[in-house]
Amino acid sequence: MDGVGLDIHDELALDWDAGPLADVARGDAATAAAAVDAAVAGFDVWGSYTPAQRAEVMHRMADLIEANNDDIAMVETLDMGFMYESMKNRLVARGAINFRLYADLIVDYEERAWDAKNMANVVQRMPAGPAVVITPWNAPFMLSTWKLAPALAAGNSVIHKPAEWSPLSAALLAELADEAGFPAGSYNLVQGIGEEVGAALVADPKVRRITFTGSPATGRHIGKAAAENLVPFTAELGGKGPLVVFADADLNAAAYRAAWQFDDSGQVCLAGTRILVEESIRDEFLVKFNEHADALVLGDPRDDGTDIGPVVHPDHRANIHGFVERAAAAGDTIVRGGMPAEDSMHYVPTLIEPASNDSEVVQHEVFGPVLTFQTFATEAEAIELANSTAYGLSAMVWTTSQDRAERVGRALRAGLVWVNTFLVRDLTAPFGGCGISGIGREGGDHALDFHSDLKTLMILNGTVTANL
Ligand code: ADP
Repeated sequence: MDGVGLDIHDELALDWDAGPLADVARGDAATAAAAVDAAVAGFDVWGSYTPAQRAEVMHRMADLIEANNDDIAMVETLDMGFMYESMKNRLVARGAINFRLYADLIVDYEERAWDAKNMANVVQRMPAGPAVVITPWNAPFMLSTWKLAPALAAGNSVIHKPAEWSPLSAALLAELADEAGFPAGSYNLVQGIGEEVGAALVADPKVRRITFTGSPATGRHIGKAAAENLVPFTAELGGKGPLVVFADADLNAAAYRAAWQFDDSGQVCLAGTRILVEESIRDEFLVKFNEHADALVLGDPRDDGTDIGPVVHPDHRANIHGFVERAAAAGDTIVRGGMPAEDSMHYVPTLIEPASNDSEVVQHEVFGPVLTFQTFATEAEAIELANSTAYGLSAMVWTTSQDRAERVGRALRAGLVWVNTFLVRDLTAPFGGCGISGIGREGGDHALDFHSDLKTLMILNGTVTANL
């Protein structure tokens, strides 16, 4: 491909046997140490910029993302298999929005000042220091910007470690950061394997913040490293979201949205993967769900006519199939799908009716196009089933009753609950998970708070000013 600073052969991209897409560096412990040293030096400069100066650079970054939107989207599509149109219009576009959001928030990020006990009291928000940002392979560009923007806005230098299965768009981001004018050392990219360079980065005592999105297993490793150095960390660790449909719901809208959970081959942490339907509408719902699912076209993610692209990696497709095979062996019913696609890198959208709520496929995140289907008799049972996994990232409720919407919405244990909609949210709202879905909250000032150290400054007989 031309114009993106990467030597990528897009004609090869959709054939696993055709060879690698691109060569990517494999950093080691020495790479990690060098990146942290660079970030320590970069922090001295970037951390001393005023919020307005940081905002200016971040808006330039957003401009550059917008100017390169189509190329970034294509790189991401080739690397990940996600739909090109949706990359362009949704996820890459969100990357620019993330930088603009935090550029705007940081200039309004207020310090508090008041007089008490003969003193001027001022709460200052100090940038914390170098921040390690570790991102996952799904939606790499969008999630990277979502995590990098608040760290940078707060005045921290960053060391970004993208996932080894989809590292390419991160290289573009680093190039754009240079062009946008982030000072030397403030924006660092390290490529490599999580257990190697990622582990070295999070163990480095000069790092002052760690923010991570990935699996609970890796979250535990990173949490241990953070504890060792007493470094605050946030983690967003996946989900097993319920999609609860009551008999009073707009059935067609609910069934459409349920089938839409196969989007991006189900490699979405927020997906509502456990469909819970009121018994009285079971058959009617399934007919509509199957209609919508039947209409989905598996194909080349570069084509407009395609709805679902391939999964990210052959190993991951094997992981997905392992869940389905174990489910069948344990007595769960495969209602539709249940196998890798022939002659392509897709996994066929799959619906499973589990033999019990304890089934592995109900209780564990598959991260593929595999949904489960269960029924409930009462609202209380719906809530109990919805809250019955160790996860708690997101949930969806479909009902036309406002009372029920609020009652059930409040009873669900999740960081985000959508009623009659999905994915849309105000980016200043808190974002994160309960249970094993995560620690801490991102979004708006919540992420800025995480990336800042608060100081209370007391000056005897001093006078308060708005900003010292
Ligand atoms: P998944 O299981 O969904 O592939 P992971 O949690 O393994 O996700 O990976 C998410 C990110 O964490 C990736 O960037 C990966 O390289 C990184 N990672 C994996 N293991 C470690 C580790 N021990 N320390 C630091 N980062 C890691």
